[in-house]
Amino acid sequence: MNDTAQNSPRPVPPSPHPSVIIIGGGFAGLAAAVDLAEQGTPVLVLERRNFLGGRAYSFTDKVTGDTIDNGQHLMMGCYHHTLSFLHKIGASHKVKFQPNPRVDFLSETEGHASFTCPSLPAPLHLLAGLSRLQTIGWRDRVNALRVGLALKMMNGNRARLADITVREWLNELGQSERIQSRFWDLMALATLNEVPEIASADMFARVLEQGFLRTRQDSTMVIARVGLSDLYTTDAVRFIEARGGKVRLNATVKTIDFANERATGVTLADGEFISAAAVISAVPYFMLKEMLAPELLAAYFPAVPAFKSAPIVSINLWYEEPVTDLEFVSLLESPIEWVFNKNAIAGDTKQRQHLALVISGAHEAAPQPKEVLIAMATAEMKRFFPKARQQQPSHAYVIKEQHATISHTVGIARQRPTQKTSLPNFYLAGDWTATGLPATIESAVWSGQECARLIV
Ligand SMILES: Cc1cc2nc3c(=O)[nH]c(=O)nc-3n(C[C@H](O)[C@H](O)[C@H](O)COP(=O)(O)OP(=O)(O)OC[C@H]3O[C@@H](n4cnc5c(N)ncnc54)[C@H](O)[C@@H]3O)c2cc1C
Repeated sequence: MNDTAQNSPRPVPPSPHPSVIIIGGGFAGLAAAVDLAEQGTPVLVLERRNFLGGRAYSFTDKVTGDTIDNGQHLMMGCYHHTLSFLHKIGASHKVKFQPNPRVDFLSETEGHASFTCPSLPAPLHLLAGLSRLQTIGWRDRVNALRVGLALKMMNGNRARLADITVREWLNELGQSERIQSRFWDLMALATLNEVPEIASADMFARVLEQGFLRTRQDSTMVIARVGLSDLYTTDAVRFIEARGGKVRLNATVKTIDFANERATGVTLADGEFISAAAVISAVPYFMLKEMLAPELLAAYFPAVPAFKSAPIVSINLWYEEPVTDLEFVSLLESPIEWVFNKNAIAGDTKQRQHLALVISGAHEAAPQPKEVLIAMATAEMKRFFPKARQQQPSHAYVIKEQHATISHTVGIARQRPTQKTSLPNFYLAGDWTATGLPATIESAVWSGQECARLIV
């Protein structure tokens, strides 16, 4: 079925009172609202800011007029729920799939190498990809197969890994320091947004299983051709409103109100009370704490105060002369993990090149002043790209997302609350809830869709 056909609304009679309130207009809240609206349930999305998108949004840079994401987002072919959400709202054409799974690496001394997976069935595509990766010695490449083998032998039973870190697991599997720093650490940081010394091995194993041991299509990178806000917010609102739902901006929920352990509605910061038959919270863990009475939080969600955040720093640089042809590339042995070529991604042929540099698990970088980060990033660009040596960036813009995701430390997976709570008409969505996935777009969308499924 094409996107347009799926977009045709079914007539829904107007409802004087929304039956489901969804707090938060990020991926989780909008995915929940879209599925509920599709089923004919009247929904009201309440968003605190004057724009939607939560931790995945974009805006226009005042100096260049270019679109900046609050941080470059990569998806994968295994993001089945996200892809179906985008399809439903008619936004599938706004992402592009790699024809074959491919990740490029740059080393200052050894140059460029590609992890390219040929057209073989999974997981052979992965083995072939690893065997060609020139920045890692052949002994390490052969040894890397032990990780794949360990995953296969576990057969989905990763319980033991819940108590150890990524570093401990990789050491156990005899992975050398070199392959860890040049391959596994980059994969762990990119997918878990946490450093391997404290990130949970269980979550990493789950990522590898989902992304790399299933189909070749699941391993391909999927990237938005447009700014993140354009990717899904407008289309989601159109879908929701066409089915009788409502989306309100500048609507900060102060409290979620309960009587006899049932949610009765929410009170906004300006004192307005809105009643509801059910409430979905689709906000991050630290916002949920603010909206619930302390005794409810302690009784029903005692683990929430244990959660911590992991930051991501994004440094956008503009060069008047192009620096690289690569669409995105990982820098080896550099504080910058990834460089994304925004012109190439958007299919923009402008001479001036916009590059987005990413530091995940950025506990050390996030406290640094922006000028220090720009100077460091400029020096790194000169080190890796000869075409950056003759020029200075004409413009720079740094974004620090202190609460980019939860910190996936050992043990935290067990603490993540499920979408169905013990309060009968109160549901939890959000990337940080118990989805079995790292806190990603896919986790957020899945959690929202699950809340909608539980309600319908
Ligand atoms: C820089 C960066 C890079 C990332 N890279 C990737 C990536 O490459 N791939 C990937 O899959 N994921 C990535 N992520 C993670 C991804 O962005 C998140 O997992 C996802 O956006 C979370 O969506 P959510 O709906 O759960 O929460 P949010 O997006 O945080 O949405 C919650 C919404 O609730 C609103 N809200 C909060 N409190 C209230 C209140 N009291 N009343 C009303 N509204 C309220 C907020 O304003 C917000 O809009 C990245 C995140 C960041 C920050």
